[in-house]
Amino acid sequence: MNNPYGIHIWSENNFIIQGSTVNINYANKPSLLEITQDIRKKGHKGPLLLRFPHLIKKQIDKLYFEFNRAKKEFEYQGDFQAVFPLKVNQFPNFVNSIVEVSREYNYGLEAGSKAELIIAITHTPIGSPITVNGFKDKEMISLCFMAAYMGHNITITIEGLGELETIVEVDREFNKNSSKPIRPQIGIRIRLHSSGVGIWAKSGGYSSKFGLTSTEILEACQLLKEHNLIDNFWMIHFHIGSQMGEIAPLKKALREAGHIYADLKKRGANALNAINIGGGLAVEYAQHKTVKELNYSLKEFANDVVFLMKEISKSKSIKEPDIFTESGRFIASSHAVLIAPVLELFSQEYHAKSLRLKEKNPPLIEELYALYKAINRSNAREYLHDSLDHLESLLTLFDLGYIDLEDRSNTEILVNLIIKKSILLLKNEDTNELQKLQDRIQEKYLVNFSAFQSLPDFWGLGQSFPVMPIDKLDTKPTNPATIWDITCDSDGEIGFNRDTPLYLHDIDIDTEEYFLAFFLTGAYQEVLGMKHNLFTHPTEVVINFDKEGNYKADNLIEAQNLMDVLEDMDYNRNLIDKQLKYMIEESSLLNHKQKENILGKLYLYLSENSYLKTIQSNQEIDCER
Ligand SMILES: *Cc1c(COP(=O)(O)O)cnc(C)c1O
Repeated sequence: MNNPYGIHIWSENNFIIQGSTVNINYANKPSLLEITQDIRKKGHKGPLLLRFPHLIKKQIDKLYFEFNRAKKEFEYQGDFQAVFPLKVNQFPNFVNSIVEVSREYNYGLEAGSKAELIIAITHTPIGSPITVNGFKDKEMISLCFMAAYMGHNITITIEGLGELETIVEVDREFNKNSSKPIRPQIGIRIRLHSSGVGIWAKSGGYSSKFGLTSTEILEACQLLKEHNLIDNFWMIHFHIGSQMGEIAPLKKALREAGHIYADLKKRGANALNAINIGGGLAVEYAQHKTVKELNYSLKEFANDVVFLMKEISKSKSIKEPDIFTESGRFIASSHAVLIAPVLELFSQEYHAKSLRLKEKNPPLIEELYALYKAINRSNAREYLHDSLDHLESLLTLFDLGYIDLEDRSNTEILVNLIIKKSILLLKNEDTNELQKLQDRIQEKYLVNFSAFQSLPDFWGLGQSFPVMPIDKLDTKPTNPATIWDITCDSDGEIGFNRDTPLYLHDIDIDTEEYFLAFFLTGAYQEVLGMKHNLFTHPTEVVINFDKEGNYKADNLIEAQNLMDVLEDMDYNRNLIDKQLKYMIEESSLLNHKQKENILGKLYLYLSENSYLKTIQSNQEIDCER
């Protein structure tokens, strides 16, 4: 069966379909379904975020492999080094995993704020690089000096001339009268003419928030020389924006930056030895080949960077610089998968059991019923057309007052049942007409997650993420699907789109479970996620594999419970607690035993998170008097 979820486009073979399930293509290849069921058995019922450290490792391995291969191929003399930009994902289960799986490389962390800097200082192995970008004040620069004094290999990237003046000031404080001053290395972020493409392009280019202009770069060099800091200036840095779909803007930026680098070397920046090309390496999120997002491979990316730097160095007769990357999205996105249970299907409930046929029905309805009973493969198209014709006539009869609401309901049910049956019978003749009919009977899937919390870039930027069911993959999904999250906000809807259609299975949620998985959610989504409606970061777990290849679920962190959420919003937890107790104690509507019963249940609920357990609570409170 051809796969309707485009797994071969976006999954990089990390996930495969085996029989009815989607499985992890690693070790003993467990299915997402068995992992999900295992964790849910322990009582964790809402959405689940699964992290796969082996996928972080795979990306880091690939990055180093391709750059080292390109270096060999072009006989490039400089080193290749990389850091992970923390803004992409600062969650401890992720950061600890990335530090763990990258030990064999000299892989470091990049920080853009004071809090991120503290994470970098405490998690980067001594000797591995730390780079510090973004706007900085005196305190932040002082923290960088402290890190240098701890023995860290740390580089401050200057984003403006003011920062350089602060560095001079802080240096005086830290290294007063010292014959062997200890200080961070210095980098300069350059402002390029070239800018990136796509929705994130604003972080590069001439009107960018960041970087020094040519004039400022020259002034900075002057200042560095005056204050004897020029020998600490070793890196230039640029970042042309995230999710760079095409390679051309990068090449342009590399040429521009390469020539700035060469010029600075000639002007006496003798310690200058590295060029940091920032992030931007893109990820394929598309599930349909018509909307693919990137036009290059990692191999091409590495070749271009190494080749262009080689070429520029040769033409300017300078030493080939070390190459740094700060890829974030490329490293982190594949490691996290959000699994969310479907709670309910809101179809236009058309089940045969809802028919209310009368003793005597209008003739056209009798005829519809006969069509429904007799439809088969050879007559399907004809009967389908007849029923659509009858539908029009019956609706007109209703408008004119000749048939009643029950008749109208029977009409709608019968026609929809006939459409569904004919779609199944004619499934091998994928005609446009059938497609259109199928799209008309869209189902709304109510899913236990918050798009605002777990897919903020979908809400804010229209970024799509691959989504598919984790079971039933051996049967053809027939329902054109719209996904509703459980927030009370109409933006929390992933609508059905005819150009990039999503089909899901027809299921009876009362008797079977059905889960959707959202893939590639490991970059940016978690920390950008917001608590709209007070839905919090979902319960998360790290999936590791033992020597036998069996998976184990480690480091489970539960979603915040209701009281923690309120406390986070600066409500006084004790006051809320007291108020709830008071209202139950003082209620004249309850007797003593009922009060006890309700209090017990209330405390149980307060200890749980905001996500739904089931759609109808099966634990009815006993309020009988
Ligand atoms: C955001 C950012 C990155 C990471 O970009 P990706 O597109 O996620 O690789 C790298 N460097 C800097 C300076 C950034 O601001």
